[in-house]
Amino acid sequence: MDLARIKRFTYIINTVILFLVIALAGFFCLCNATILIWFSIPTLMVYIIGYVLIAKDRLDIYVRLVYFWITFYMCLCTFCLGYKIGFHLYCFSMIPIIFYTEYMADKLGKTRVNAFVVSGIIAICYLLSTGYTAFAGPLYMVDNALAGSFWAFNSVIVLAFLIYYSRLMLSLIGDYEKKLTDAAHTDRLTGLYNRHFMMTELESSAKEDKPLFVAMIDIDDFKKINDRYGHNAGDYVLINVSRIMREVCSECRISRWGGEEFLILSSGKDHDVFLGLVETLRKRIESEDFIFAEDHIKVTITLGIAAFTSGTSVDGWVKAADDNLYTGKKTGKNKVVS
Ligand code: GH3
Ligand code: MG
Ligand code: MG
Repeated sequence: MDLARIKRFTYIINTVILFLVIALAGFFCLCNATILIWFSIPTLMVYIIGYVLIAKDRLDIYVRLVYFWITFYMCLCTFCLGYKIGFHLYCFSMIPIIFYTEYMADKLGKTRVNAFVVSGIIAICYLLSTGYTAFAGPLYMVDNALAGSFWAFNSVIVLAFLIYYSRLMLSLIGDYEKKLTDAAHTDRLTGLYNRHFMMTELESSAKEDKPLFVAMIDIDDFKKINDRYGHNAGDYVLINVSRIMREVCSECRISRWGGEEFLILSSGKDHDVFLGLVETLRKRIESEDFIFAEDHIKVTITLGIAAFTSGTSVDGWVKAADDNLYTGKKTGKNKVVS
């Protein structure tokens, strides 16, 4: 999650809490809880200041202020009205959120909130306020029906928050896992699969009962391209050769095997179809006008292809394609050797 998204999310939370404070002020009037009615005024001020803090990117101060205030508010309400109205329940939604806040602050390089200490303080406040009213009773007596409906209202809010928050955490974990897996499988420059991941793809596809082919591809005289036009031009060629490979062989799995070598895996296509496809690829690259910093760069590739035959190892299969590539390089380059 980036900072802009976190800010949007915090604005929504702040607005929800603000409306809750207004609704609760109405409830305190019904209970004639004078202390709490007056206490609603500084509470409203806190959330109005909250908007300013979010706008000024001071989420660190905002989080501390809101946490302090909610804990204080929760304890005061429990002291005044007793635990039967369920204000102490808000701790259960605050504790997981403070751990989430610590995690996000860490990720964004902001000042950390010590979630362990803060949640410990919240837990102590919870025990003190509920424990005190259990022995001494609340300051204001609340009608049972009113207390019951309020218990239900607070419970619904806390449960809804926990359910929403747990789903959010799960989707965040899923997003991060996907990003990590993608990063572990992909080559950064070209966005193609890396060699390590391609090896596992080759091994798992070798178990399929389908015609399988690999094409080992090497850019011809790439060193000269680097020497003549510069390393950045070389990178540009690698990126665009990869793009063309993806366009031409959209159904194949394509990897960057080494510096300027690529390995394409085709599954389910017969020999002639695959040969036609790689020939199209060779011609497309040969005819492409690679323009970098006003230089027109001529690029060709040589390809060695090999079919998978049962009983051969994956290494043997790749070596067969490599041997064909070597033959192509020795016999003039810019060709497909099958
Ligand atoms: P051949 O036709 O026989 O394949 O000759 P070649 O020049 O393409 O082969 P050689 O193996 O001699 O050179 C490959 C070059 O690729 C050398 C290396 O500096 C360059 N190279 C490897 N990785 C990268 C990269 O990520 N970016 C750039 N720009 N160059 C790279
Ligand atoms: Mg090479
Ligand atoms: Mg080369």
